[in-house]
Amino acid sequence: MKTRPKPVADLISPDDIERLALPSNLRYGQVIYKRGGVEFIAFTPLKVEGWVGGLNGSVAEGGSQRRRTQLISTLEGLQWNCTGNPKNHQIFCKHCVALAMAIRDRTHPYH
Ligand SMILES: [Zn+2]
Repeated sequence: MKTRPKPVADLISPDDIERLALPSNLRYGQVIYKRGGVEFIAFTPLKVEGWVGGLNGSVAEGGSQRRRTQLISTLEGLQWNCTGNPKNHQIFCKHCVALAMAIRDRTHPYH
């Protein structure tokens, strides 16, 4: 049997997110998510895409531009893409954090 990528939702446990993101982005992303700043565009087990951000206020309050953000599961592991990041310099930014948390809550509601 061929190896398959794991679902995106299995690669973004709270520990995973903490390991991937800088503490500041972790905080800002959490605020964006809690304020309802995530809107799914496509939701499949191996690829999730959403609009993230676009809220008003300071950065600490979750304010940011709206970005199109993707989380993709591959055989090499999790990949992410955010239109706000420079090419070839893809940090796991606050939009990625917010999207990951939204995916997590949608797929593991009692976690
Ligand atoms: Zn971003």
